[in-house]
Amino acid sequence: MDYSIARRRMVEKQIRAKGITDPLVLDAMLQVPRHLFVEEAFWDQAYGDFPLPIGEKQTISQPFTVAAMTEALQLSGVERVLEIGTGSGYQTAILAQIVSKLYSLERLPDLARKARRILDSIGCAQVHIRVSDGTCGWEEAAPFDAIIVTAGAPSVPSDYLSQLSIGGRLVVPVGGRDKQVLRRVSRLGEQDYVEEELQDCRFVPLIGRFGWREGA
Ligand code: SAH
Repeated sequence: MDYSIARRRMVEKQIRAKGITDPLVLDAMLQVPRHLFVEEAFWDQAYGDFPLPIGEKQTISQPFTVAAMTEALQLSGVERVLEIGTGSGYQTAILAQIVSKLYSLERLPDLARKARRILDSIGCAQVHIRVSDGTCGWEEAAPFDAIIVTAGAPSVPSDYLSQLSIGGRLVVPVGGRDKQVLRRVSRLGEQDYVEEELQDCRFVPLIGRFGWREGA
């Protein structure tokens, strides 16, 4: 299978055809070899428009969702970005094509370790990955111009709001344990935040101090 052809088809049919226009996002989706972020048994399905299992009951998000969330961050390349939920590292790799100041948090050490290995192997060594409860953000590396959360939260953890720089954007799925609405929060001033609802989505739960309880 020629993965670069599969990737081009994915970008045309599932990403551009469904309304994603940001050239930085489209180019990043063309560059990153998505199949490397799943087990070899799934390589032939890696460019389909659906999530796939990555172990530990977690999933790599569907390509369109990754593109839509990245576009919603409105990145130009100079931003300092925080991602919560490294998972397979695929969304991280997409962000790494666009920005160089990138921080990513994952609560499960094995997933973080695997993601680190793949990211290093495809030239994304600049990404900082830490294993911790991402519901508290990454205080020492804040503030961030963009924060992206790739797990569903019951409500917006307040540390994300305080760690967002003025002018920055937070994209986070908020709602029930298995179904959420993608929300974008823009910080306009010290105490001035504007919220928009972007689309329905389904993410695995954000588990932690300011998220869901494990196994509940
Ligand atoms: N962006 C990932 C999606 C992974 S699924 C990808 O493209 O593969 C969501 C991930 O969020 C899982 O790996 C899960 O372990 C992680 N997660 C859930 N709660 C978390 C928390 N409080 N802090 C950090 N990571 C968390």
